[in-house]
Amino acid sequence: MEQRLYDLHLRAGQLSGREKTCGKKTPYASEALAQQASEAHNRWEERKHDVEPYPCAFCHQWHIGGIMPLSLLEAMVASLANPTEQQD
Ligand SMILES: [Zn+2]
Repeated sequence: MEQRLYDLHLRAGQLSGREKTCGKKTPYASEALAQQASEAHNRWEERKHDVEPYPCAFCHQWHIGGIMPLSLLEAMVASLANPTEQQD
């Protein structure tokens, strides 16, 4: 995975929160292992959608999740990184 995409996944993960990004998901020690797991899933005929590996900002391992195109990650990070001001 290229560095830019890797960084975006970490940032998007942090913004989404531990529960959604890491939570009860299976951790894989390397991208290669997560890749194998995602390929197995993507061959499964009853799957709901294809998945891909992503690095986890919380446990620093890898998980598999729905495919996130670069443009979607960028849009997510851009919108969540600049939340509208909130009054306490
Ligand atoms: Zn994790």
